[in-house]
Amino acid sequence: MYLMKIDLHTHTHYSDGKLSPSELVMRAHNQQVDVLAITDHDTVQGIAEAREYQASQKRPLQIISGVEISTKWHGFEIHVLGLHIDYQDQTLASRLAEQSEVRLTRAQKMCNKLAKIGIEGVFDEAMARVGTGQITRAHLAQVLLDRGEVSSWQSAFSQYLGKDKKAYVNAPWPTIAKAITWIRDAGGVAVLAHPGHYDMKTKWLRRLLEEFKDANGQGMEVTHPNMSPTKKQLLFSLAREYQLLAAVGSDFHAPSPWSELGRKLDIDSDLPTVWADWPECRKAS
Ligand code: AMP
Ligand code: MN
Ligand code: MN
Ligand code: MN
Repeated sequence: MYLMKIDLHTHTHYSDGKLSPSELVMRAHNQQVDVLAITDHDTVQGIAEAREYQASQKRPLQIISGVEISTKWHGFEIHVLGLHIDYQDQTLASRLAEQSEVRLTRAQKMCNKLAKIGIEGVFDEAMARVGTGQITRAHLAQVLLDRGEVSSWQSAFSQYLGKDKKAYVNAPWPTIAKAITWIRDAGGVAVLAHPGHYDMKTKWLRRLLEEFKDANGQGMEVTHPNMSPTKKQLLFSLAREYQLLAAVGSDFHAPSPWSELGRKLDIDSDLPTVWADWPECRKAS
């Protein structure tokens, strides 16, 4: 039996990814990915370009329109993926425009904090890299790293940009329930992103899953590349317990030895998946 290679969580340079949508699609071809969702942070800008590029290609690839929405829950920044959305939906566009405003204001405030401790001009430098895309903390981290203010990407977060660090600003993100409504209004499936990456105990994770399900969330990511088998099994069993559909994605941001499209994303075959009834995921025989 031929198993499809499916990757439902990826970024382009319209948020904090390194590749353009065309480059991302090209890479998906080279990695033999069959189905690729593009899920930039709070924007759908890359999707039209990816679809246009694919339309000019001979090699097959199904593109799923997606978005990764930032929300807040009990002080945690929780990400919710909207998969299989109508990326041209006008209501969604205006809601994402509000997210852009929040992002710009937050970045400005973070950079003001940096300026107060002597690191000036980060905002303008970051914006020059952002172009028409969505500004993220990753852009600020890159400026700090390039200037030699920090010695590693991780320390940009552990010293300045991470939660409650020197330049951290608490953003007024929407609730999880709101993001789920936005996604479902745009015809999409709402999926809890990377539940294994939040810094919370299993008891809190359970609470999160319960509330996500109660707010009409439909799925959860059940694996990430390089996740331990024990953690994977925990996520598989939580998906079963809370009756959330399984989703898989690499959360690809840039080519590196540790991260690749569609790699190491296998899951237990009995798990009900978000893509079970998607025509894009039916292999032509
Ligand atoms: P933002 O959505 O603007 O808060 O930026 C979040 C992005 O920054 C994430 O998607 C990651 O790519 C990166 N990021 C956030 N926190 C960390 C961290 N502690 N270490 C490394 N990268 C991080
Ligand atoms: Mn990111
Ligand atoms: Mn995320
Ligand atoms: Mn992501």
